[in-house]
Amino acid sequence: MTTDPIDFYGLELLLDDSDRSLLHAVRDFGDKQVAPIINDHWTRATFPFELLPALRDLGIVGTPYTGYGCPGRSFLLDGLLAMELSTADPSIATFFGVHSGLSMGSIYLCGSEEQKERWLPAMARLEKIGAFGLTEPDVGSGASRGLKTTARREGDTWVLNGQKKWIGNATFADLTVIWARDVEDGQVKGFVVEKDTPGFTTAKLEDKMALRVVQNALITLDDVRVPEANRLAEANSFRDTAKVLLMTRAGVAWMSVGCARGAYRHALAYAQQREQFGKPIAAFQLVQDLLVRMLANTTASATLCARLSQLQDAGAAYDEHASLAKMFCTMRMRETVGYARELLGGNGILLEHNVGRYVADAEAIYSYEGTREMNTLIVGRSITGQSAFA
Ligand SMILES: Cc1cc2nc3c(=O)[nH]c(=O)nc-3n(C[C@H](O)[C@H](O)[C@H](O)COP(=O)(O)OP(=O)(O)OC[C@H]3O[C@@H](n4cnc5c(N)ncnc54)[C@H](O)[C@@H]3O)c2cc1C
Repeated sequence: MTTDPIDFYGLELLLDDSDRSLLHAVRDFGDKQVAPIINDHWTRATFPFELLPALRDLGIVGTPYTGYGCPGRSFLLDGLLAMELSTADPSIATFFGVHSGLSMGSIYLCGSEEQKERWLPAMARLEKIGAFGLTEPDVGSGASRGLKTTARREGDTWVLNGQKKWIGNATFADLTVIWARDVEDGQVKGFVVEKDTPGFTTAKLEDKMALRVVQNALITLDDVRVPEANRLAEANSFRDTAKVLLMTRAGVAWMSVGCARGAYRHALAYAQQREQFGKPIAAFQLVQDLLVRMLANTTASATLCARLSQLQDAGAAYDEHASLAKMFCTMRMRETVGYARELLGGNGILLEHNVGRYVADAEAIYSYEGTREMNTLIVGRSITGQSAFA
């Protein structure tokens, strides 16, 4: 048996046979269905709706949730699947992370039984697509303290006003979880706003240089009225929002490893077929040095993430665990995609050679779900007992 040049430490051996075959099915989906069409969508900044039936048939939406039509499997499997999707393409992984993680996760972790029954089964079947609106034009990193979007209660109705920026999937989502500050008690609460609710409008953010396939929107909420039945029953303050972010930040750490792995995988294949000085460039010491640096980064990062997932599965993961992984893995990702681009020479910036797409997409993953600085401050507070946010 030879060592797998991608999964060098055999992390997929941590899964049982049935979970491993699911991972392989996702890899197959990436190779056969995503790879042939993704560059065209990336260029045109369009979303490949044609992939949704096959994605649904994989049966991986809501992987770690139990009940409500969801698979009820481990966080380890969920993480490895996120990495695998991102290895195929970071935009597809991001679409999936917003829907299955941020949106469904908000309902799963903060919704009442009735709310979970109402929305999750259709979302697990991808019949309804979700989005998650926390960030605002003026408030990103400081969302825990500074949200300006307001929620005012009028009897059994809530009236929402404000704007949300960067919201993935929002241009076509059937439901968007909007986080807003209750003017009465000042606390952040979550509201499910359904498509076509009067006063809820979206404008696609054009000309992104990263994750161009993901449809991000500026949302405007102008006296949007939602029933009390759509207020997430267990979301009573930003502490509850943070429970969702712990889970999804771990997922983004895995996705950043996938982005790095995707670039590495393409670079390795390229090095074996590209010839200079009469032999494959893979035969040169300095090219091997680049490849091994990439492999070391992806292997170290994936191993870190695997342990984080095990902590999640044991119910022992805290914010700082997810933040350390997100911070560390995204730094290694940025370095890795840079090495891959370097290895391809000029072809590294041609979309048809794929690596350039990962280089660009890495920039978005680096900043969303908490910048490096924010995640560093979360870990710093944990190890020193001193908050250095402001
Ligand atoms: C492609 C993409 C998709 C996204 N999808 C979503 C989505 O679906 N839903 C959603 O709600 N949001 C989404 N976001 C928003 C994302 O989470 C924010 O961009 C991120 O939290 C950073 O906020 P910001 O861009 O406003 O930067 P800012 O908060 O303005 O930060 C700017 C810089 O200042 C630094 N900084 C800020 N405060 C401090 C401090 N106290 N100490 C040191 N440095 C500091 C930051 O680290 C950063 O480097 C998405 C963003 C992108 C780019």
